Amino acid sequence: MSQYIGRFAPSPSGRLHFGSLVAALGSYAVAKINDGKILLRIEDLDFFRCKKEYTRIILKELEEFGFYFDGEPYIQSEHTDVYYKVAKKLVTEGKAFYCNCTRSYLKTNTCQCLQKGLKEDSEDNLALRFIIPKVHQDFFEDEIYGQMSFPVPQESLTLIRRDKVISYNLACVVDDINQGITQVVRGSDLIDITTTQMCLYKALDADYISYLHLPLAMADETYKLSKQNHSPAVLDQGTPSEMLIKALNFLNQDIDGLSSEMSPKTILDKALERFEIKRIPVGKKVIA
Ligand code: GLU
Repeated sequence: MSQYIGRFAPSPSGRLHFGSLVAALGSYAVAKINDGKILLRIEDLDFFRCKKEYTRIILKELEEFGFYFDGEPYIQSEHTDVYYKVAKKLVTEGKAFYCNCTRSYLKTNTCQCLQKGLKEDSEDNLALRFIIPKVHQDFFEDEIYGQMSFPVPQESLTLIRRDKVISYNLACVVDDINQGITQVVRGSDLIDITTTQMCLYKALDADYISYLHLPLAMADETYKLSKQNHSPAVLDQGTPSEMLIKALNFLNQDIDGLSSEMSPKTILDKALERFEIKRIPVGKKVIA
């Protein structure tokens, strides 16, 4: 069997919140118990939302929690040529097309750009869209949820926006393929996009990989934690050791004997010795 390679892929649009800590811990622990590698990827392509300053802070915060990632962090904004190359290849193969529809036009009209055959150099603010194949797989096996099925949107999928922001879906799939990721461990807020991402795997002639979606950290019954929701920074809520224990508890792991007096590294080492995937709960969970 090939070696397990996992990744944690935060977007530097703010400091780490509790949900990010859960994703970091979950992806880290699952990779370690599989004797695998864990890579750190900074998903900073949305230049309207992400800031270099937050990348620096996130790297420092992850270190404070005692996480040691394999290799150097992979910063997506330093590799934009890779995503452009793949997107253009998809156009050449007839799997994607350029589009000049504005968002307001699309609210009341259907895009006809595929038929127009626009060329890259015909205008400088063209979007690039992927044609969802008619035949596609709309289910996958999740290690926590079991078999999951999500309809893939019938319309096209934006790969590069008119404002030149490279989409999360394109960059995430290209990097997961190029970095040899064998399993994606991430929050359940992204579970429904999985089958859409799988269409890109197919279009890029890559093998499907496996998935494990972690429970979603909720501030209350209706309110998901996220940077966009201005969720508090996790290190403003407690020390690294306290918050690590809280995150382990959130993942329903055995925290017996762990104390916030211990260093984060000691807590992580002890927790990894007894981390069990089968204890991870399904769905949403309000933070205790
Ligand atoms: N960058 C995404 C986020 O911070 C995670 C993407 C992923 O794990 O696929 O929510």
